[in-house]
Amino acid sequence: MAVERTLSIIKPDATRRNLTGKINAKFEEAGLRIIAQKRIQLTKAQAGEFYKVHAERPFYDELCEFMASEPVVVQVLEGEGAIAKNREVMGATNPADAAEGTIRAEFAESVGENSVHGSDAPETAAEEIAYYFSGLELVG
Ligand code: GDP
Ligand code: MG
Repeated sequence: MAVERTLSIIKPDATRRNLTGKINAKFEEAGLRIIAQKRIQLTKAQAGEFYKVHAERPFYDELCEFMASEPVVVQVLEGEGAIAKNREVMGATNPADAAEGTIRAEFAESVGENSVHGSDAPETAAEEIAYYFSGLELVG
């Protein structure tokens, strides 16, 4: 399996509850290396641009408000099959459906405030990494 990079976001519900370290431990235990990381405050417009694929969904406005409500930690994870591995460690979008031991099963508050974002494919991973990081910031 190829070494991949994926974009991860620790969302406001998790940064607010000081869960960054516990979530990062889950990534590292799964063999994902955090090769870039920063804490930022998104504007609603920046959140909207990032999530524009969901612009027509009924929860879009709520999602953008939430992502801009408090700081987030954006990060790049690297490892063998990192995109799928990260999605596995995250668990299902709705914490009610998330497998035991996953980040969302343990920490998410609701389907909207679900603690983490992870890219879903190589193309989106590349786009999403470039949205938040310059090449110089990625130290693999
Ligand atoms: P993900 O890839 O597992 O994060 O899920 P999606 O790409 O389908 O959705 C993006 C994000 O939108 C999710 O992580 C949630 O924060 C939010 N979201 C998705 N579905 C719902 C929903 O039914 N209601 C609300 N309020 N938010 C949702
Ligand atoms: Mg998604």
